[in-house]
Amino acid sequence: MRSKLAAIIAGVVLCALAWMMPQVRRTLIRAITTYEAAPADTAPLPGGTGPGLPPAPRTRVILVDGLTEAGTEQIASWKIICSQGALLTIDVGFPTVSLPVEAALWTGLTQQQTGIVANHAFDPPIKGIPSQVPGSIAIAENHGYIVRSLGFSRAEPAAEPGKPMKDANEKPWESQWFTLAIEAVKSTSPLVFIHILRVDVAGHKSGLGSDYEKAARATDPLIDKLFQSDPSARWFLLSDHGHIPTGGHGGQEREVRHVQGCIHGPGIKKQKSGLVHIVDIARAIADSVGVTIDPASHGRPFEVMMATRLGEDQAVPALPIAMGMIGIFILVAGLGAATWAVRRWWLAPFWFLLACGLLIAVRGMPSLSTGFIYKPEGRDMWMVWAPTLLLAATAAFFGMKKSTLGRVLAGQLALPFAVLAAILTIAGAWGAAFGAKVAPVVPHFTAWMSPIMLMVAHGAGAVGLAVLASVAHQSFGRRAPPEPPRSEPAAAPPPPASS
Ligand SMILES: [Zn+2]
Repeated sequence: MRSKLAAIIAGVVLCALAWMMPQVRRTLIRAITTYEAAPADTAPLPGGTGPGLPPAPRTRVILVDGLTEAGTEQIASWKIICSQGALLTIDVGFPTVSLPVEAALWTGLTQQQTGIVANHAFDPPIKGIPSQVPGSIAIAENHGYIVRSLGFSRAEPAAEPGKPMKDANEKPWESQWFTLAIEAVKSTSPLVFIHILRVDVAGHKSGLGSDYEKAARATDPLIDKLFQSDPSARWFLLSDHGHIPTGGHGGQEREVRHVQGCIHGPGIKKQKSGLVHIVDIARAIADSVGVTIDPASHGRPFEVMMATRLGEDQAVPALPIAMGMIGIFILVAGLGAATWAVRRWWLAPFWFLLACGLLIAVRGMPSLSTGFIYKPEGRDMWMVWAPTLLLAATAAFFGMKKSTLGRVLAGQLALPFAVLAAILTIAGAWGAAFGAKVAPVVPHFTAWMSPIMLMVAHGAGAVGLAVLASVAHQSFGRRAPPEPPRSEPAAAPPPPASS
């Protein structure tokens, strides 16, 4: 009788968890896409002293949003300009999100130092290089909230009143922006920034296919005309991140983090860099316009940056060791509990291992670049692992006959819950899970939180329903002991609704 009560309580608690956890997941997604991270300095870069760029009377910066290193091959003018100057391979740091990267470009501080890890409008703008340059101008093709957030004396397009993320007069701006960009380049302003966005838009829409290449080619006449409008200025040609092949960015993938750029103009001879950091470029721009950069910046003087290359993943922030140790401890405890439980081989959490394997095989490795992790209802993900829930429920149902409740729960759920707890710990996400307004954005683990939390919720629901079903089944069985059971309870519970 007591064991039956325990089973009922366990079943109800698991179903409650299955209902609550998808909502916690949505809270976490909101946190990583909305808030800022606690500033830290977890991506230390090498320093170095030496000569910086001499100041130039006019500095001109073109940034093609979302342009991959391979994408530059489509842009003839880019190739010509860059082949005459300092050709750069740039690591944009992590996360590979436009506003955070461009904040690093214009402040000289990494995303970890600023804590800016998501796209949102800053009003008042960030204090950095442009705010020290009177008469600085930024013109964006669209998504003007980025240039408006960077502290230029003049930044266009303007925002719609009361909606800082939205551009005013979007339609007429489409035909006006480039004329204004040319005028700005031709002006006497010491610093002009032109932000081109069509390539990123194409990447999001259809991945790195022919449409993406077409969008890249369409920037060729723009870059050519801008450059010809002031060929004697010092030019920076830059990108803020690449894209994964299916379209998307944000994660730590090398092909997204490593982009091409160059510096062209007075005082720059033809040369080629190893891997440098976006904050090195910030330093070069600051020197070019003759202003100082934040003393905390790791941006290196031009000569130093050209002489020493970064390691391929040196810009990826390290995880806090203490959190990693606790995470591993939790994982070991979960494995221990699972091992204790698995007296019968089929009580092992095969459903969970299979669900993870299927997700990677069908959707690819989750990262902050893969769009499916952000979807509130997570349908793309749970459609893939739904069949494995049948396995969880079946094992739990028969486990209740052949083993104990404790062993069934530990066998099916100890490892999945331990994995989830370890990921939340390493990502530093417990506070955000309970509503703290801080973004737990770290490489790898932040992205895995989303599928694992939904998966564990579904597993808890499947096991909970199976435990309740077995209690019901045993109750009927006891009332009519001599007869074999006439009707089986519902074989497998459906995946719990996640919306
Ligand atoms: Zn983008």
